[in-house]
Amino acid sequence: MTKKWVYASHSAKEHLTETLGHEPSLEESKIILGGKGAGLATMTSMGLPVPPAFTITTEACVEYIKTREFPAGMWEQTLQVLEEIEELTGKRFGDQENPLLVSVRSGARQSMPGMMDTVLNLGLNDETRATLARLTENEWFSYDAHRRFITMFSDIVMKYPREHFEEKLEELKKKEGVRADSEVSLEGLKSLVDEYKAMYKEHLGADFPTDPYEQLRLSIKAVFDSWNGARAIAYRNHEGIPHDWGTAVNVQTMVFGNMGDDSATGVAFSRSPSSGEHEYLYGEFLINAQGEDVVAGIRTPQQITRAGSRDWAKAQGIPEEKRASQYPSLEEALPEMYREFLDITAKLEAHYRDMQDMEFTIERGKLWMLQTRTGKRTASSHVKVAVDMVKEGMISKEEAIMRVEPEHVDLLLRPSFDPKAERKLIAKGLNASPGAASGVAAFDAQRAKSLTEEGKSVILVRPETNPDDVPGMLASKGVLTQKGGATSHAAVVARGNNLPCVAGCEDISVDVVRGQFTVGDIVIREGDLISIDGFTGEVYEGAVQMIEAKYEEQTDLITLLGWADEIRTLGVRTNADLPQDARRAVAFGAEGIGLCRTEHMFFDERARDAVVRMIMAGDDQEKRQAALDAMLPFQEQDFEGVFEAMDGKPVIMRLIDPPMHEFLPSREELIEEVAQLKCTAPDSPALAEKEKMLELVTSHWEVNPMMGLRGCRAGIMYQGLTEMQTRAYFQAACRCAKRGVEVIPEVMIPLVGHVNELKMEREKLETVARQVMEEEGIEVEYMFGTMIEVPRAALTAGEIAEYAQFFSFGTNDLTQMTFGYSRDDAEGKFLLKYVEGFDTGEKDADGNPILTPVLEANPFQTLDQTGVGRLVQMCVEEGKAAKPELEIGICGEHGGDPASIDFCHRIGLDYVSCSPYRVPVARLSAAQATLRHGK
Ligand code: PEP
Ligand code: MG
Repeated sequence: MTKKWVYASHSAKEHLTETLGHEPSLEESKIILGGKGAGLATMTSMGLPVPPAFTITTEACVEYIKTREFPAGMWEQTLQVLEEIEELTGKRFGDQENPLLVSVRSGARQSMPGMMDTVLNLGLNDETRATLARLTENEWFSYDAHRRFITMFSDIVMKYPREHFEEKLEELKKKEGVRADSEVSLEGLKSLVDEYKAMYKEHLGADFPTDPYEQLRLSIKAVFDSWNGARAIAYRNHEGIPHDWGTAVNVQTMVFGNMGDDSATGVAFSRSPSSGEHEYLYGEFLINAQGEDVVAGIRTPQQITRAGSRDWAKAQGIPEEKRASQYPSLEEALPEMYREFLDITAKLEAHYRDMQDMEFTIERGKLWMLQTRTGKRTASSHVKVAVDMVKEGMISKEEAIMRVEPEHVDLLLRPSFDPKAERKLIAKGLNASPGAASGVAAFDAQRAKSLTEEGKSVILVRPETNPDDVPGMLASKGVLTQKGGATSHAAVVARGNNLPCVAGCEDISVDVVRGQFTVGDIVIREGDLISIDGFTGEVYEGAVQMIEAKYEEQTDLITLLGWADEIRTLGVRTNADLPQDARRAVAFGAEGIGLCRTEHMFFDERARDAVVRMIMAGDDQEKRQAALDAMLPFQEQDFEGVFEAMDGKPVIMRLIDPPMHEFLPSREELIEEVAQLKCTAPDSPALAEKEKMLELVTSHWEVNPMMGLRGCRAGIMYQGLTEMQTRAYFQAACRCAKRGVEVIPEVMIPLVGHVNELKMEREKLETVARQVMEEEGIEVEYMFGTMIEVPRAALTAGEIAEYAQFFSFGTNDLTQMTFGYSRDDAEGKFLLKYVEGFDTGEKDADGNPILTPVLEANPFQTLDQTGVGRLVQMCVEEGKAAKPELEIGICGEHGGDPASIDFCHRIGLDYVSCSPYRVPVARLSAAQATLRHGK
């Protein structure tokens, strides 16, 4: 038996059941018939009024693409099914008595807007047109249909752009002094059709095809070819749709919405695609029009329901009387049709159990359904529709959770640029921290602060950031850096503080001395307005209109995440450094702090001073202790605030981690200042002081600081540092406990590579903890653990587990050290290009280069499961083998990434920890992982 390539909508279900050996699921139907074809088949089998149609399968397209020939048997099957359609309609293709006209449309498995448009009115030639005129007693209509057909066929099938035809129509309208297409005279239309045919012949060197079968054959080929058109490829690349799916072709009997005032055409959503509301049907229609007129914007479309029409008129400032007379709703204009459509909508929603996006046509008082598909919608509509459908008993909580994408949750929490606002794109970098912001550019932290104090919104622009910049960053509305990646200092601080950030934007060239950046010919100086979009990495000149988001007001999201909490087995903690971050994270549903980067507490200038003094003290025991004593209160105060915010929830304090030189002034700036002072004030005390500082900074300078004196190495080398931090932490814990706060302290050592480092730090810590508890007269239970962020630690997990009660994967450093990619430089230098791909000479159907990537994703954003993930998994297995009760989490940036969270669930981690604003995303992702893989 030859393969079945063509399915009639009226028998598709039965034939698919034969082909598959079982009744097709919606997904299976879509795979073979495409979304549109599956929708037509379903609606037909539900007994809804659908113009008879058939679908040529996606498999036929895949075969065609290989040889550029229809697969054997396909055309014969097409002709056979066409006969069935002729029988059903009583019309015949190309017949002069009662001609059948059809539309041809593409329809991939997943809807791909912009891939290929529709060709309407196939089957028309001079003879069939004349018959159409006779049968409809409307010659004008027949010529209008003909000129539309020639335009669409030329444009879509023959790639002769429609603009040429529209230009002629415009000229005709001008000549006749009319505004609407429908006002053109019959004589005018007749000459236009002749002109179109002549244009076609001149441009394409052949007569316009009059044989309906030839028209059909060419149109089917064009749809198949459109699968590999540049627009379609670009869309698939953007949406991650596989290139080998192919598209189906749908051929459907024409029905006409432009046959008079009892005819109409329209589109509608069963619920609002922007808010998810379902007070009424959301959509538009036009009386006496063809589908393309609704979107063409020539006439003002009317609303489907009376209520919707009133809301629309109110927004437009149109008085009720004028609305009712000039723009009546379908409910008012064609009430019977409206009621039937409403009824069909309810049936379709109940069948598909999702919001539907439908197209319909009314031909002389008869309603026809042309299409139904799952409606595309905004993030808030996604959440509202899912939650409402659970409440309405249509879907389960589990389905609702699986329907909402984690990124939708993230989008709901961010202020964003109004999609309708005007903007001028000037550069693109890495989307390092989501959110959008407009403000004046400032090129150093101090200026950022002072401009903010003057009441300005500021975007801090730096080559890259360091702890020095933090006060300026926190004062700003957003951060833009020329260098650095997703886990760079700027990105981490920005995400932790809900600051939009575009990092690694190598398009721009920042000149801090001049206080400006340049991109091409554009120069942005301090005070100039710019906008950054941390969702997309885009940078704009000027301000862009914003829209805000508030979590507490998002009741549907809160409900959905509550269901997610009932389902998920993976815990969700947060990376928070300060009391206000901790409070925010708790409001977002964090169950503890998985990482408190204690060095962030030294961003306060006075605390920074004390750190510098501690470093400068060198071997001077007394000075060092005095500096440490000055640092302690800052830490303790913040720890108390954090414990209070997390009352009853665990708080992991990580000992100081970054290289100490980050707390010192910049070496480059000091060299410049010393050089200047040597000329201007050679004997000044200022010079002596700067020279001393430069000496100190130079002595701490490292070629490769990220692999240098940092993490536990600093704790071991700087005497008294670990003790001071431990004391501050336990004093805070004991004092809070005495006030009735339920404290669950956990202490974590960073950057351990050898078990002896852990042993050493643990001994110091236990001594101080004991001492403090004695002094405070209270016992608090605590846990001691380590980060796993050096590959050697992962490889020796068994040994390390003996000295730790918990592990937390620092996958930022673990990725850096496993790949050997600098987390600060790689993205800007090569990593983004690795992901984007290289031109290796391969071309698509239109001759555009196909880029070949080195990496599928940025490993600093999505955990590399094959490499870094393997280390993580081995470490979990060995660690648990050595100590079954070992608690294991992750606190690298991957803890907020859905794909990485799925991995963490699969390998049995206890929790993920992410920045406060990713907590809701992580709650949903964790529930989805449980639903996908089981507990
Ligand atoms: C890590 O390395 O993954 C981590 C969480 O630590 P930090 O980002 O502070 O180096
Ligand atoms: Mg780290």
